Amino acid sequence: MPAIYPTISPMNNTNVDPAELAKFSELAHRWWDVNSEFRPLHQINPLRLEWIQTLASLKDKQVLDVGCGGGILSDAMARAGAHVTGIDLATKSLKVAQLHAFETQTPNVAYREVSAEALAAEKPASFDVVTCMEMLEHVPDPASVVRACATLVKPGGWVFFSTLNRNPQSFLFAIVGAEYVLNLLPKGTHEYAKFIRPSELAGFCREAGLQAQASRGLQYNPLTRRYWLDGNTRVNYMLATQREA
Ligand code: SAH
Repeated sequence: MPAIYPTISPMNNTNVDPAELAKFSELAHRWWDVNSEFRPLHQINPLRLEWIQTLASLKDKQVLDVGCGGGILSDAMARAGAHVTGIDLATKSLKVAQLHAFETQTPNVAYREVSAEALAAEKPASFDVVTCMEMLEHVPDPASVVRACATLVKPGGWVFFSTLNRNPQSFLFAIVGAEYVLNLLPKGTHEYAKFIRPSELAGFCREAGLQAQASRGLQYNPLTRRYWLDGNTRVNYMLATQREA
């Protein structure tokens, strides 16, 4: 069973909102219940995994998953042949991720309680691929996480982000729709002011030496309860970037 090595406590880390970690910790036992609050992440997981693999190969690659939670994406990337390290600062979520890997015998996945910034100081230019999905909108300083991801990836390597756009439509869909009308997510999951426009994310990336290469929007039909990807980045979107070689 892979071990969790606590390297830094959230108390010593400035770029973390303890209330955010508490929210995820409270739900941690349900990470792998596909009918729980985490259902949307389970449903979008095959879509994002496939998109990542159209741009970057994962087989035998060193991959870091920043803000991995219960390991939904980490686990899938390991099953696709990558050697995955998942990091988060919510201890309970990491324990759930680790237990899931043990129970399902997922090969080549390890979880660590460490911030992206601290790991960047420890292991710069160590990963072929870095993923940071649905996490930036939960941290006080997303640009600092983007810089850490840029430091962690090898020159020429890929960094994938996903987050929520900030506009009236994303407020309506991601907060009013998802949290109040459809009850897909617990109320208070997302805070509008922390949403990040694609132009802002692209700016953080540019400043960190990451070149934006492609983006996709994630759509949801509440009647069919299906998700799909297309070019519309108005609400939830992913950005693929590459570190300069
Ligand atoms: N990336 C996963 C989980 C997204 S939920 C997925 O897409 O499936 C957001 C995650 O970000 C939670 O697990 C939460 O604990 C984590 N998180 C929030 N603030 C963080 C921080 N400052 N550092 C690391 N992880 C953080």
